[in-house]
Amino acid sequence: MGDENVAGSKHGNLENDFDHWQDQFLTRLRKFNSIESCGSQSEEKTSDLDTESADESGSGSDSEFSDGEDNEDDDEEGGDGLVDLEEIGNVMKKAKDKKKQDAESGPKEMITPSLRKSLTKQGYKLIGSHSGVKICRWTKAMLRGRGGCYKHTFYGIASHQCMETTPSLACANKCVFCWRHHSNPVGTEWRWQMDPPDMILDGALANHYKMIKQMKGVPGVLPEKLEEGMNVQHCALSLVGEPIMYPEINRFVELLHEKSISSFLVTNAQFPEAIRDISPVTQLYVSIDASTKDSLKKIDRPLFRDFWERFMDSLQELSRKGQRTVYRLTLVKGWNAEEMDNYAKLVDMAKPDFIEVKGVTYCGTSKASTLTMDNVPWHEEVLHFVRQLTSRLPDYEISCEHEHSNCVLVSHKKFLVNGKWHTWIDYPKFHQLVREFKQTNGAQTFSALDYMEPTPDWAVFGSEERGFDPISTQGGWHYWG
Ligand code: SF4
Repeated sequence: MGDENVAGSKHGNLENDFDHWQDQFLTRLRKFNSIESCGSQSEEKTSDLDTESADESGSGSDSEFSDGEDNEDDDEEGGDGLVDLEEIGNVMKKAKDKKKQDAESGPKEMITPSLRKSLTKQGYKLIGSHSGVKICRWTKAMLRGRGGCYKHTFYGIASHQCMETTPSLACANKCVFCWRHHSNPVGTEWRWQMDPPDMILDGALANHYKMIKQMKGVPGVLPEKLEEGMNVQHCALSLVGEPIMYPEINRFVELLHEKSISSFLVTNAQFPEAIRDISPVTQLYVSIDASTKDSLKKIDRPLFRDFWERFMDSLQELSRKGQRTVYRLTLVKGWNAEEMDNYAKLVDMAKPDFIEVKGVTYCGTSKASTLTMDNVPWHEEVLHFVRQLTSRLPDYEISCEHEHSNCVLVSHKKFLVNGKWHTWIDYPKFHQLVREFKQTNGAQTFSALDYMEPTPDWAVFGSEERGFDPISTQGGWHYWG
């Protein structure tokens, strides 16, 4: 079931790996045949094939990060000589027919039947052929009046009115800490069938509301919260995959805003042009999973050969965005929690408005991830890291924490107005600004400072609540959903 765990796949799934192998095999076979017909010595043939193989496999360790389409670098085809030469004609014909068939039937669906089964089993509601929605445990917690997620504390979202979705289940990385355990497809560009954005949004909302309704009657669920939950106000585009890969992402975000739903979009910093082209979102995140090329490669296991350049370019693009920008650091003890000076340099590059630092969440050890509980930092260790980091960043300070999520917010001091933090978002104001931006075709632009709101005292770092909203403590101070 290659689709169910693609960590070992170089091209996204078993089927793509086979197609790739088949292409390479046929190319080599053609070469072999042409050498044969020229009457060359068999030693020459061997040497030709060996040279090609060495070139393709690359000299650097980058070779294991094939992009799946252009950089053909497999080195596992040691079995060329095992095919009966009399059968070669048949094999070639069959392969050609299959290619022709594929070309005629157009792009494939991103979600294969086995993947659909696997994702559905994991609780995803799938929409069309490449999108998904899932209800998050914090949404459920807040429906019970038991407190919201860290975005409630840091930015004032109502977790019970938040929908977590993605228009692209595919991603260009295979991160070691990915909680989906690599059940999602991977790829470096959109090469699948594409569903329209309105269909995806309607499907996501319909499925989300269905899941909210299912909470009716669950012990502890408050009727007024349930009613509010039927009116989505926020959308976290971070469920799984890389939402910015979806070619219609701008229209999708626009549709959210038209419904007065705020947008929190997370990208893994591998698509700088998409970051450049994205229209204003409420908050744009870039995942900063490491601070050096080597550790990024180790942690994110990117598909792109030029992943580091893409990462750097993404940060440059982020620095040019007008609205709220965030670096999201996921700390994995023993993997990326050092190299503090490099992190500080990365902050200096894009000067994000905020830096969220979160201890990695343990999701079990699997073939796709070797992380153990030892890699999960304690909250005090996360705080220690953050203190080290802020000591190198004169323009930033710790503003909030959510102890329950093991998450700390570092904010640019421009959000400290008259001694009071303004990390919360004025959502109606954002929607008004985005409407004006659209009506004037982008002439009337706006900045992060135009829609900030004061952070309540309980959410500010150093408060005795440590990030727990005092009005949502119905027996849920240590609720884990
Ligand atoms: S922001 Fe994320 S964690 Fe918070 S409620 Fe929405 S989906 Fe859940």
